Amino acid sequence: MTPARSSKSTLSRRTFLKGIGSIGVAAGLYIGSGEVSYRLRQASRQRAQRPRRVLTGRIVTFDPAASIIEDGAAYLDERGVIEAVRSVGAPPPTGYAGAIHIETGGDIYPGLVDLHNHPYYDLRSLWTPSRSTPYTSRAEWQQDVTWQDGGFPESPIDAYWRFAQEESMKFVELKALAGGVTTLQGLSSATFGAPFREGHLLRHVEDERRDGRAVAESFVLRPRVADPFALFRQRMAAGTTLIHHFSEGRDPDLGREFDELFDNGCIGPRMIGVHANALDPARLRRWAGRGGAVVWSPQSNLWLYGQTTDVAAAKEAGLRICVGPDWSISGSKNLLGELKVVDVWNRQRLGRLFTDREICEMATSVPADALGLADRIGRVREGLQADLLVLSHRSSDPYRNLIEATERDVHLVIASGRPSYGVSEMLRTIPNVSSVRVGSVERAVVLPDPTISSSILNWEEIVSSLERVHLVEEVGNHIPFVAAGDVVPLDTLMPDDAYFRAIADATIPGGALTELRSYY
Ligand SMILES: [Zn+2]
Repeated sequence: MTPARSSKSTLSRRTFLKGIGSIGVAAGLYIGSGEVSYRLRQASRQRAQRPRRVLTGRIVTFDPAASIIEDGAAYLDERGVIEAVRSVGAPPPTGYAGAIHIETGGDIYPGLVDLHNHPYYDLRSLWTPSRSTPYTSRAEWQQDVTWQDGGFPESPIDAYWRFAQEESMKFVELKALAGGVTTLQGLSSATFGAPFREGHLLRHVEDERRDGRAVAESFVLRPRVADPFALFRQRMAAGTTLIHHFSEGRDPDLGREFDELFDNGCIGPRMIGVHANALDPARLRRWAGRGGAVVWSPQSNLWLYGQTTDVAAAKEAGLRICVGPDWSISGSKNLLGELKVVDVWNRQRLGRLFTDREICEMATSVPADALGLADRIGRVREGLQADLLVLSHRSSDPYRNLIEATERDVHLVIASGRPSYGVSEMLRTIPNVSSVRVGSVERAVVLPDPTISSSILNWEEIVSSLERVHLVEEVGNHIPFVAAGDVVPLDTLMPDDAYFRAIADATIPGGALTELRSYY
C-alpha cells in the first residue's frame, strides 16, 4: 500500500507541514539520514546498563544447530546480548549468580521482524472500500479514497502526529509490541527530523547501523531525483539494503516496474521488494537468480485486489519470502495477525505448500537474513541481541503455537535486552510500568527514561492525549482542512467484533479472510 495524496488538500497540507519538518518520510518518501537523532539515541543506549537476566522455558531458536530446547535457559548480559542458550540443567555462564530469573512457563521465540508496515497510519483501523470489485493497482484505490470521506487517512492521521507526536509513536509501537514485534519497518528517527525525547520501545529497521552506515533504507516510491536507479545502486553498493514497493496490484502492466529495476541493475541481494503481486513466474525466477527477498502482505492484497503475490512460484524459484502486515488500513493490526492470514491462504489455496516452520521463519530468521542482520536479530542464539518474544504454551508444536497465538498469548517482549511489554508478573522488577488493556486482557508496557522531566510515563495519559486530538474544535483551529466529521477514532490494539464484522461484510476478498475469526 502506498499512501496517496489528495490534490484538493495539497495547498493546506504544505502549509501544515511547515511545523512538522520532514514528514514525507512517514509516507515512505526519501528525505535524509537522521544522523543527529541516531547519535543522540546511541549515546543514551551506551549509558544503559541492564541487570543480567535468565529466561527459562521452551526455546524455539530458529537456529539449525540448536532448533528447539525443550527445557531451556537464555542468559542475557548487561549489554542486552544473548550470552548463552542452554538446557536448564547445564551450568550457567559466570556472572549470573545475582541475575534476575524469569520462569516464563511458556515458549521463547526471537522477536518478530516486520519488514512491511506504515506505522504512521496504524493509529486508525481497517478501511472498507466503497466498491465491491477488486482494484487493479494502487493508483486506482488512491483515486477512490480521500480524507474527505474519512476513508483515506490524510488529515485526521496527521492531526495525531501534529499534536501528539510522542504519544502517537508510543501508540503505534505498542500496537506492534502487542503482536510480538521487536523490529519494525516504516518509521525511523529520521521521519520527524528531531529525536524522540523518550527513545523507542522497539527496534526500527531504518535506525540500524553497521560501521556507521544505514543497514536499511525504505522507499515506498522511487526517489524524486534525476536518476533514481543510480541512487539505488549507490546505496546498495555501500552495503545498505533497500526496502522498496513495486509491482503492487493485479494489472500485468505493473510488471514493468520490476523490469525497469532489473534492467537498471537494481535487483540483487540488497533489494527487498514489497508486494510484487503483478509478477509472473518468469519474472520471479529472474529475481531469484539475483538474490534478495519479497515481502508478502496477503491480507492487504486480498482486501484491495482480491488476489496476492504468487508465493508458490516465488518459493519454487528459490526467492526468500518474508511476511509483513502493510498497515492497519487494509492489513492486519500486527505481524502476529498476518501469520494467520498466511496460514489460512496456505491451507485453503496452496495445499499446505509451506510448513508451519517455514511460515514462522518468514517473520523471524528470513527477514533477518534478508536485511543482512543475521548476526544481530532473527534467532535465539549466543551473540545476538536479546530481541525475544515469550508466548503462552498452548500447542505441543512450537511453530503452530506461534501461528495460532493471539495478543492474549503474548506474555513478554524484550527488545535490545530491554523488557518492553508483557504480563505484569514478568516485569515486576522494572520501574515505569504502566497498565494497558489489550482486548480482554491486562498487559503492562515499560515506558522509557524516568529521568526526563517531560517524559510521558503513563499509558492512560498517552491515550488521553491522543483522544484529545479527536476534539474537532481544537484540530479545526490549526488545520483548516479538517472539518467536523473527519474524526478518525483510534484503532483497537487487537481484533474485535467490529473488525471481524468488517471482514465478514467485505466483498473484494471473496471470503478468503472469513476464517480469521476462528483464531480468536
Ligand atoms: Zn505498503
